[in-house]
Amino acid sequence: MPELSGPHRAGSLAPGATIGMMGGGQLGRMAAVAAARLGFRVHVFTPERESPAAQVSAAATVAGWHDAEALARFAAAVDVVTFEFENVPGDALDLVAARVPVAPSPAVLRTCQDRIAEKTFLERAAVAVGPWAPIRSPEDAEAAVAAVGVPCVLKTTRLGYDGKGQATLRAPGDLPAALARLAGADGGFRPLVAEAFIDFACEVSVVVARDRAGRIVAYDTVENRHRRHILDLTIAPARVAPAVADAAQAAARRVAEAIGLVGLICVEFFVTRDGRVLANEIAPRPHNSGHWTIEACAVSQFEQQVRAVAGLPLGAPARHSDALMKNLIGEEIGAFPALLATPGLIPHHYGKLEVRPGRKMGHVTRLFPRGGLPGEDAIASAFPPLP
Ligand code: AMP
Repeated sequence: MPELSGPHRAGSLAPGATIGMMGGGQLGRMAAVAAARLGFRVHVFTPERESPAAQVSAAATVAGWHDAEALARFAAAVDVVTFEFENVPGDALDLVAARVPVAPSPAVLRTCQDRIAEKTFLERAAVAVGPWAPIRSPEDAEAAVAAVGVPCVLKTTRLGYDGKGQATLRAPGDLPAALARLAGADGGFRPLVAEAFIDFACEVSVVVARDRAGRIVAYDTVENRHRRHILDLTIAPARVAPAVADAAQAAARRVAEAIGLVGLICVEFFVTRDGRVLANEIAPRPHNSGHWTIEACAVSQFEQQVRAVAGLPLGAPARHSDALMKNLIGEEIGAFPALLATPGLIPHHYGKLEVRPGRKMGHVTRLFPRGGLPGEDAIASAFPPLP
């Protein structure tokens, strides 16, 4: 049976207890709001002076990820710790886990932080992935590209998100330029994976939670559309064959079990044109493609995360409505007043003051009766035009 990581084996948290949240972004903000509704306080640890999560939390420690003294102070001030940012350094989480229960465990975090570890884990758990090969040194690169074929995508093993740290090769001759593009700031080599380019029919994801006793709940399989490598739209439920939706559910549950999860994760998949479901990556935290659960389910992904880490019963993940969730990226947040004025829309603003291209500023959800999602043509007009 999985245990929380750390020396303590706390029972369930009592109301008034404090949940430590590592990371200060919008995922932490929405989790803090959910935690408040269940009677908990949230204490954020973040290097950011001004953060979306700290704005709505009871306390914040603003310090660097390697500030051992600040991490120890933070651990002493909270009853359990979770995270909303997958690039929390593993050593920082270890330091906290030595003092207070942490969920998901540092081992789960580490598996998800490194694309080689992640794909190796998925294969061992018998979860299908696309053809891939590790590039641990520059000498591996040519053979790796030959092994997966072109077109392919090279990705840095660490610190990549929203398409950052990726380069597409259309021909083997593109390799030197791709390696140069993916070099570190000092021009040095960074470990990579080569992935065959998947000509997918669509992308889907599943958010799944697991409690300390090993009970699992999974939200419905949803469909995701990206623009410039950033999630643009989530369609809940995914408009795929039942066998495809079920295969994603089964794979996500297998991941949660095999990784020994306590907490909540999201598994992203490619659906190939012949209906195969290939895992792309695991996010060890609530996910942008689960924001629709705030309004379309009685228990949102954020509340589920809080319940799992607090040792409370997980809630039913049932979907009472269908939903479209549109991200508000960069300047799109300028449409916020218009979104507020449009009946039927449920806008969320993350409280970020600085608008930057590609920055997730907010999102907007629209609900539909179950089975009542608009047709493909009408999906684009479900939201007012955005700048
Ligand atoms: P990632 O950072 O791995 O989640 O990639 C971001 C997005 O880039 C994915 O959601 C896909 O839309 C696209 N992408 C990444 N890897 C591949 C691949 N091997 N084949 C096709 N598209 C990809």
